[in-house]
Amino acid sequence: MATQEIDRRPRPDRALSLYEDACRHVRAACRALGVAEGTAQYICRPQRFHEVSIPVRADDGRLLVFAGYRSQHSDALGPCKGGIRFHPAVEGDEVRALALWMTVKCALLGLPLGGAKGGVRCDPGALSGRELEALSRGYVRGLFAELGPDRDVPAPDVYTDARVMAWMLDEYERLAGGSVPGSITGKPLVLGGSALRDEATGRGCALMALSAMDRRGRPARAVRFAVQGFGNAGAATARILHQAGWRLVAASDSQGAVHADGGIDPADLLAFKARYGSAAGYPGAAALPPDEWLALDVDVLVPAALEGAIDEGAAARVRAAVIVEAANGPVTPDADELLFARGVDVVPDVLANAGGVAVSYFEWVQNRSGWYWAPGEVEARLRDLMLSTFDRVDAEQRRAGCTPRQAAYRLALGRLVEALRWRGVAGT
Ligand code: NAD
Repeated sequence: MATQEIDRRPRPDRALSLYEDACRHVRAACRALGVAEGTAQYICRPQRFHEVSIPVRADDGRLLVFAGYRSQHSDALGPCKGGIRFHPAVEGDEVRALALWMTVKCALLGLPLGGAKGGVRCDPGALSGRELEALSRGYVRGLFAELGPDRDVPAPDVYTDARVMAWMLDEYERLAGGSVPGSITGKPLVLGGSALRDEATGRGCALMALSAMDRRGRPARAVRFAVQGFGNAGAATARILHQAGWRLVAASDSQGAVHADGGIDPADLLAFKARYGSAAGYPGAAALPPDEWLALDVDVLVPAALEGAIDEGAAARVRAAVIVEAANGPVTPDADELLFARGVDVVPDVLANAGGVAVSYFEWVQNRSGWYWAPGEVEARLRDLMLSTFDRVDAEQRRAGCTPRQAAYRLALGRLVEALRWRGVAGT
């Protein structure tokens, strides 16, 4: 887990604005769909929101207490599903926004799942392995009654990985008194994980990037791209696009950015990062000031770090033709509109990074049936799901003349509202 290079700077008011941004997209889609104001309000709020205090005995004997959150945004379409984030800047409103996006994502893909998200405000890089394990287990203990394969199924997100999921699964199963592999996804293979889950988000993003460039007509030269946030999602996207013949010209993480016009080999950069803890200082490329990645002469930008990376000011500087949102919420709503007006195609997060939850869904299905799929089967199902969803969003966008994000929200919320109507929550 890349815990050595965490951006610890406070991000004031970011969480609240993120939640407001998420609601703004929902309200706009509901208006376009003719959904009643009250239903739109209902959709903006999480069905349930939990906050727990997690005590952890530190290695030096002190008692540390962490704030943990779980927003169960909606179970109208099925059990809640969503990752858990460990980060110093985690806030309740950030978790609320991310949970709402999970509902939209699952609904857009047509999965029988609702949306949730969790987070713990902590600095994982400053915790020992034993402390991190105690924190992961404490999170599950605090929320045990709310979790489970038919209620709410967590998965990895920023600064959590298969190791954290293994601790969480083990704690859940101890408390449940039996084997319940479908209670957590993103587990190691040997504990019932799915083939390809670790690179599923990147695979999905790469498919979306390739489709978006195909739609525009590819340039004669190798497609040039830059990745902000060379972590799980960003590095896997880069590796797969590199294999497809694209050229990675810049990459960054929280400690810095590197740039090489002639191209960077993502596998080489990953090996460097694994050894030295960061992409910064990679000898095969020059250092780049932190915000310059977004103004580079590239065809595709892949923001794969955190929210709010491209605001209105940044959007005006973008030279790329396509932005693929590997991260959740990297383009602010105002920037989204400006980019649309400028003719830049933004593949929205709820589509671009949906490969992660798609394979989490496959993992949950495999766990429940006890029948495990070969990598080729997972790959083929992921490809079908992502490409058919891309085509549906593309068709809706062309039909309605709206942004791709609005097209995705309209398709997703149409399905959610239909379920709410049958349940008697939304008006007819
Ligand atoms: P990760 O922790 O593996 O990687 C995040 C990377 O971003 C790290 O390398 C970190 O250094 C970098 N970063 C942080 N702040 C930065 C900054 N200011 N500038 C540049 N880089 C910075 O996390 P991840 O799982 O890859 O998640 C990244 C994004 O993708 C998040 O928005 C997450 O919600 C989203 N996402 C992840 C998954 C998944 O399956 N992991 C699925 C869907 C969406």
